[in-house]
Order: sequence, then C-alpha cells, then structure tokens
Amino acid sequence: APLTGSEIRSAFLSFFEQRGHRPVRSSALVPANDPTLLFTNAGMVQFKDVFTGREKRDYNRATTSQKCVRAGGKHNDLENVGYTARHHTFFEMLGNFSFGDYFKRDAIAYAWELLTSVLAIPVDRLAVTVFEGTPEIPADTEAEDIWREVAGVAPDRIIRLGLKDNFWMMGETGPCGPCSEIHFFQGADVPCQEEAAGRPCQGVACDCDRWMEIWNLVFMQFERDAQGKMSALPRPSIDTGAGLERLAAVLQGKRTNYDTDLLQAIISAVGRVAGKTYDTAPESEKTSMRVVADHARAAAFLVADGVLPSNEGRGYVLRRIMRRAIRHGTTLGLDKLFFHEVCAAVIAEMHAAYPELRDGEKLILEVARNEESGFRRTLSRGLQLIGEEIESRKGGDRLLPGDVVFKLYDTYGFPVDLTRIIAEEHGFFIDEKGFEAHLEAQRERSTFAGSGEAAVGALYLGLATELGETSFVGYEALETRGKIL
Ligand code: ATP
Ligand code: MG
Ligand code: MG
Ligand code: MG
Repeated sequence: APLTGSEIRSAFLSFFEQRGHRPVRSSALVPANDPTLLFTNAGMVQFKDVFTGREKRDYNRATTSQKCVRAGGKHNDLENVGYTARHHTFFEMLGNFSFGDYFKRDAIAYAWELLTSVLAIPVDRLAVTVFEGTPEIPADTEAEDIWREVAGVAPDRIIRLGLKDNFWMMGETGPCGPCSEIHFFQGADVPCQEEAAGRPCQGVACDCDRWMEIWNLVFMQFERDAQGKMSALPRPSIDTGAGLERLAAVLQGKRTNYDTDLLQAIISAVGRVAGKTYDTAPESEKTSMRVVADHARAAAFLVADGVLPSNEGRGYVLRRIMRRAIRHGTTLGLDKLFFHEVCAAVIAEMHAAYPELRDGEKLILEVARNEESGFRRTLSRGLQLIGEEIESRKGGDRLLPGDVVFKLYDTYGFPVDLTRIIAEEHGFFIDEKGFEAHLEAQRERSTFAGSGEAAVGALYLGLATELGETSFVGYEALETRGKIL
C-alpha cells in the first residue's frame, strides 16, 4: 500500500535524522520575532537568525515539518485554492537545513536518494531546474554538474531558469543564492492553467499542475549588501522545502493534493455536512468542497496559534479565509452553520501530529460558529445591495464605485476580494482606487477602538480568555495595519 501522509512525514524526518540532522518542532504560524512577516510561510523562517549568524544553536543540521500559511503577504496562494491541484493556504513544508555545514553536493545527493531510492519515485517522471545566471550573477553550473554527475539526471531533464524561479533572497539585503527545484510529471492530459488562458504550456517552466514542483533546494552562497553588491559567504548554507501534500499526491498516485489521505478525511466531512459525494460531484461543487476543506485547515491552525478574526492584519486574513469558505459553503447549498463541523474534522484528523489543535479545540469551534453567524447575517443583506447596485448600472461603465465597495466592506463586512469576485461574476469591475481612498479617509477619522469592530474583538477576547490556553495575539496585527488590503 502507498505511504500515508503521516508516514511520509516520518520517513522524511527520519531519513535526515539518520544523516545527522536534529529534528526540530514546527514553529508557530505567527512568526516569533518578525513583524514584517504576516505568517510563517516556509521552513526556514524559524532559522533566519541562524542563517545570518546572529543566533547560534548547538546543531548545524536540522530537519522539520513546518506549518505554513500562504495567504496574504508576498506568497499569497489564497485565490489559487480550489482551482489548482497543488496549492493550499495551509500546508506542511518538509525541510532539511545546513547552517554552514554541508552544501550543494550533499543537499542534491540527499534529495535524490530520498526521492528515487527510499520513496522509489520513478526517475523518468522527474526533472530539475538550475539558475541560468544574469549579467551580474553567475549561472549555477556547479549545481548542473552535480545533478548530472552525482544524481545521474539526464541533461535534457535539467532546465535552466532565471531569477524569478531559481534565485532566492532572504530580503533586500542578507543571504541569497541560486536554487534548484525538483518537478514531477503528473501527465500530459492534466489541465494546464496557462493553456486554459489561451497560452502555451511551458512544461517544467510552466506555472501549472502538469509538471508539479515538489521540492526546492536553496543554496545560500552570497551575501547582498545595501548597494546590491554580492559577496561570497564564507560558510554557505542549505535551506530546502518540500510540500508534504504534494509528495503524498505523487506517492499515492493522485493527480491532486485533495485526493490524498491528508485532505480526503476533511473533504468527506464537507461532503457529509453538505449531503454530497466529492467523487461524483460536478466540477464547480468539487471546487467549493476543496476550498472549504483547505480553508478549514487554515482557520483551525491559525486560531490554535492565537490569531482571531478582526478587520486588520493577520486577523483580517483569517476572516477572509473563513468568509471565502462560508461563501463556497452557501454555493453547496449549506444554509445553516456548518464551518465549525469541518473544523472539528480537521482537529480529529490532525491533533495527533499537532496537539495544539486539541488544546485550542473549544476556541476554534466557537470562533468558527461566531464568525459564520455574524457573516451570514450580513451576507444576504450585502448580496442584496450588490444586486441593486449592479442592476442600476447595467447600461453604464460596469464599474462598482468605491463608496459602494467601502460600504460593503465597512457595514456588511465583505472582504474586498469577495466583492470583486461577485462583481466579476456579473461582468463588473470594482473601483479599487476609490475604495482605497474611502478606507484611508476612515482611518484618519477614527481609530480601531472607535469602530464597531472593537465590540466583536472584545467578544473574541472574552472567549479566548474563557476557553483557550492559546495566547492572544490578534491585535498584534495592528502593527501591520493596512498592509495586506
Ligand atoms: P509553486 O511554484 O508551485 O507555487 P513555490 O515555488 O511557490 O511553489 P516554494 O516557495 O519553493 O514554492 O516552497 C517550497 C515547496 O513548498 C514547494 O516546492 C512546494 O512543494 C511546497 N508549496 C509551496 N507553496 C505551496 C502551497 N500553496 N500549497 C502546498 N504546497 C506548497
Ligand atoms: Mg508559489
Ligand atoms: Mg515555484
Ligand atoms: Mg519553489
């Protein structure tokens, strides 16, 4: 039988533990000392200071399975969810790290051995990428040679790509370097998102599900200064990330992450509450079931890590995730509170690996119920308002004015992207600039405490104190005020 998701997680960690890596627990989704980052979005986040040398640990090799959220901020996969086979808002990233210890040769050899020997992925379905270089930064011929000579990868399966895909930087300054990505061929008949948009599929280089990226190996070998000058790091480091859900899809012979055991238990829960069967449902309903399942994982894990719904920063991203899920639930015909039941399935399924879900259970379910009942009250009134506005503008420029978008946001609690989606469904655009201007004006008029949202916040704060051992960090989000709108 194929390995289960949790067996793959263990196999990865023990492979690296046997090779001298310290297994380190996942850090929280709210980064510890990094107000610039909305959520932990990669395995390396908890090791940033170790890579720069500001912090010393008693090990120089580590391996983790890291909780990640990519919704809002630089890596935002929110709108992909439901529509690609491989993106989640919440996912687990497996990784191995070398802090100035081994470098390219070992990193490549380890990854190849794990994938092709231990996990027995057929070599003929794999391809790798290397950095092709720019006038300023040399091509990574070193990695190319290692892929050919050490791993034995056929030259036509080594693809050279540019800065966007194959060069990594921690920030404007600091450690950076080329990377190699390992891709798995899912099949020529897998739908390509580019082809769907009328453009040709770019194969390994394409941003689609056909050649799915499974693992990214980052070779930190330069240091970039404020002038953009790059110098060689005396002790280069390794940072890698492999999506657990994607590896599960490969090893379980599935075309999408959602067909793996990791997501199926939660998809079934969605089916149960909606009275639908995923496998036989029409594609649009499948999309909604995937969205609900994915977002329930993100919501449960975010609340367990202390994020609570609000109108700002992290809490606002959580609110958007929950509301997007609830709206998809309504398209599945769910007209009663259901989201907490799907969150309960997430807790049941994942608390063994992540005990914080059990600790936060009461709070997670209560927040889910509250958020859904609040949203449902305004959803129908908001939908009516949009309907009227669109009807009265049908003959015109098909633009939903900024003040209407703002009213939906402010009075009815509609996240802007929700309004945008509904508008687009009617062939309308929203006046983004006009909306921003109204938002800015409101900020100047009032403080957060003066808005109706404070009451909602207080309610959650009360709940958090009453129910949770979870530390409350929702309002830390105030620091990132406005950044993610
Ligand atoms: P993609 O190009 O497919 O969006 P990426 O290049 O953005 O992936 P990385 O930043 O390199 O991804 O992250 C390392 C690994 O984490 C990826 O190779 C992939 O296996 C996994 N991964 C990245 N984003 C997601 C996501 N949204 N959901 C699930 N797994 C992901
Ligand atoms: Mg991506
Ligand atoms: Mg990529
Ligand atoms: Mg990548």
